Amino acid sequence: MQLIWLRSDLRLLDNTALSAAAARGPCVAVYVLSPQQWLEHDDAPCKVDFWLRNLSELSRALGELNIPLLIREASRWDDAPKVLLDLCQQLKVEAVHVNEEYGINESRRDEQVGEALTAEGIGFYSYLDQLFFKPGSVLTKTGTYFQVFSQFRKVCYERLHRSIPAMVVKPAAQDSLDIASDKIPASVEGFETPGEQLRALWPAGEAQARLRLDAFADAQIDYYKNERDFPAKPGTSQLSAYLAAGVVSPRQCLHAALQSNQGEFESGNVGAVTWINELLWREFYKHILVGYPRVSRHRAFRPETEALAWRDAPDELLAWQQARTGLPIIDAAMRQLLETGWMHNRLRMVVAMFLTKNLLIDWREGERFFMRHLIDGDLAANNGGWQWSSSTGTDSAPYFRIFNPLSQSEKFDAEGVFIKHWLPELAGLDKKQVHNPADVGGLFGVADYPSPIVNLSTSRQRALAAFKNLPSRQAQD
Ligand code: FAD
Repeated sequence: MQLIWLRSDLRLLDNTALSAAAARGPCVAVYVLSPQQWLEHDDAPCKVDFWLRNLSELSRALGELNIPLLIREASRWDDAPKVLLDLCQQLKVEAVHVNEEYGINESRRDEQVGEALTAEGIGFYSYLDQLFFKPGSVLTKTGTYFQVFSQFRKVCYERLHRSIPAMVVKPAAQDSLDIASDKIPASVEGFETPGEQLRALWPAGEAQARLRLDAFADAQIDYYKNERDFPAKPGTSQLSAYLAAGVVSPRQCLHAALQSNQGEFESGNVGAVTWINELLWREFYKHILVGYPRVSRHRAFRPETEALAWRDAPDELLAWQQARTGLPIIDAAMRQLLETGWMHNRLRMVVAMFLTKNLLIDWREGERFFMRHLIDGDLAANNGGWQWSSSTGTDSAPYFRIFNPLSQSEKFDAEGVFIKHWLPELAGLDKKQVHNPADVGGLFGVADYPSPIVNLSTSRQRALAAFKNLPSRQAQD
């Protein structure tokens, strides 16, 4: 008997470990619930709910192939070796198959499980699946991990030119086993079930992910470069939750993009090329996570920035979290996050810069809050995005290039359509006023809307000074 241990690969198609397990003989699948670990990782309730909903769909799909899906619980990953060993012994499993996951806790868990199983004569096989290239296989000439995205991308393109990662074959149906699938729990204690409105935005199952991918590749990818920065437009794929949970594979995304671009990835349609670039940013941050494990421990990529004099400003942090900063683009974006579990990429950068520069609040506060609310929360991408915005990361925004939220708002939501959608209290303002109601005064029915909690120009100066005063930065200047 073979066991496929499912984690962030909740799909049947193009699932390397699943296909490998099924090819070797009759197989059973297991998913391990780890609520305590998830709480420690700040996994969002809407994301946990998304996992459960996808597991239900997957259980049905596996059932059609006579592959039962079992549910076990190891509240913390330290318990995983025992839970899996017990299951293997009970079912007389010969080998366990997993797709690699990155991050230090994930790696340590897999090492411990592998050791416990092999000590009992049970095989433990892990496969590259979440990425195009194995971390550690894309390195500089001197053998170190790339720190600059454009250089990393160049090497990825060279490899992709040589061979495009192939998709794996679908597992075949097996003879029926005398093992019944477990019921997938409707919820897990500690994680509140989100409202139906949020759930409806993220329908579960790989067929849904495929529909989204095909619709994007057929109708939208050509306009991606021009439309991706405008939050009022449906300019991006909204596939991140599906990619993070593994409901769709990056290879499926790459192939769909290439197909829409006649097989080219560096030339041809600029939209497809730009989108593939984003898939490589995803790849880059996961390689960084493995190459520089300190970022997995929430340490700054640039150690000198650990000395930054972040402000302890709980009221301002709360205003940011609750969408009450008095800056419409920030508040609209935060409402989008709170209500949908997702935020547009341009706005993730804008609200992150605002928190870490204008409010000078530690990026780790923002990182944690995002993780607790994002349906696509992913340690590597979230950490990468926060450290980019706060200028503490690899290849990040230079500390002196601080986005002005008002200019960002005027540029990327010129008509105020996005703002008015999320802040209906500003519906009466014209397209100039809507970016900065403070300029209007209380005369036009915006009395309900707060005044800005911070002065943008003085707070900008404060941030510049804080970064300039970093000891190592002073030495360099
Ligand atoms: P598309 O534009 O259609 O891109 C396709 C896919 O490429 C995405 O689904 C995603 O998997 C990947 N991708 C795109 N941009 C990036 C990026 N900058 N870094 C890494 N991968 C990228 N993305 C997450 O998946 N999880 C996170 O927790 C996360 N946190 C972020 C936090 C901050 C502060 C910032 C600035 C960015 C963060 N991102 C995160 C990256 C990006 O914002 C989202 O991937 C994107 O908005 C998802 O929307 P989409 O699927 O429509 O993306």
